[in-house]
Amino acid sequence: MNEQHHLSLSRREFLRSSIGATTLFCARPHRAFAAARGPQQKVVVITFGGGARDEETFSIDGQQYIPNLLNTLAPQSCFFTQVINRGILGHYVATASIATGAYETFDNFVAQPPAHPTIFEYFRKDLGRPREDAFVIAPGNLFAQIGASHNRRYGPDSGAEVILPKQLLSAALGSANTPQLDDYPNLLRDNYERPDSTSTVTQETDREEFERMIDRLKIDPADLRDHAALLRSPDELSVYMAKHVMRNFAPSLLFLTLHDIDIAHSGAYSLYLDGIRSTDRLSAEIWTEIQSNPEYKDKTSLFIMPDFGRDGDNDAGGNGFQHHRTGSPSARTTWMMALGPTARQKTIVERPIESIDLAAAVSGLLGFDARLVQGQRIPELI
Ligand SMILES: [Zn+2]
Repeated sequence: MNEQHHLSLSRREFLRSSIGATTLFCARPHRAFAAARGPQQKVVVITFGGGARDEETFSIDGQQYIPNLLNTLAPQSCFFTQVINRGILGHYVATASIATGAYETFDNFVAQPPAHPTIFEYFRKDLGRPREDAFVIAPGNLFAQIGASHNRRYGPDSGAEVILPKQLLSAALGSANTPQLDDYPNLLRDNYERPDSTSTVTQETDREEFERMIDRLKIDPADLRDHAALLRSPDELSVYMAKHVMRNFAPSLLFLTLHDIDIAHSGAYSLYLDGIRSTDRLSAEIWTEIQSNPEYKDKTSLFIMPDFGRDGDNDAGGNGFQHHRTGSPSARTTWMMALGPTARQKTIVERPIESIDLAAAVSGLLGFDARLVQGQRIPELI
């Protein structure tokens, strides 16, 4: 048995014993689920960002850190126990690959548009949807151009509205004429892998654009400043933005990239665990928002999936939980939770899928033609 399969079986056994989930063998969807497709459907994707291992999540030892995923969301979900990422294990390039349904190969540390069209472009162009019907909320500057590819048939005119919450907060602080950046050190940290870009401060040249965006998004800068002062992590700021967007624009396609877990790069195990706890809680908050917002309730599919995992304790060349540089099965083999009208509750799918398959599933749900997607449809869902 290879290590990916072993991880999958371990997750299956854990979920069977913890929530009584049963294995879904039938690849054909129930007719009632298939009937749920259509233009009224909405899709929310959460990347369980930064990558966590089973030791700290779906295992006897790890379950204490994911009470919401395990007790609230898993029993309502169809859980895929083996999701393989065969691409580059860098956060921006891997997240872009999820959004395009094709393994992108660009330099992870250079902000640039993906090569393949994104699901946002297919969706907006095929269905003639306005810009405010597709949103991305992303954790840092590298993600600024994730909303649209440089494919000539598509591109920014059909892309998603991309929100960089830290940049908006930074701009909102600036507009108060009393910058208080020191009051928000944790919220403005751009990423956890590049020590030379740890703080997000909106450049003067960009400030006008971000101020226009604050206006376009109907955000009150004073409210944003006041609320941000109460928040503890960048992901809390991202979820605050996600709820604001859902309540004011109700986009049909919302892609939220969480990233707190990646603080693991600092080497502090307790901070890594804190990141998992907060990602667990925030994922459930989004599901609660979906269920309490009439624009989303009962017609929204929620997908929760890590961009990739992290290195195992025994991986040669790694340093345990800290990084994701070995390319080992622990770093490549993740999971996916699907909730909503197209997912059969309390079931497990053991068949291996790939992280790029999600784009094909979204295309089926929303009814667009993802022509250049390399991933496969997921018949258990639609
Ligand atoms: Zn990382």
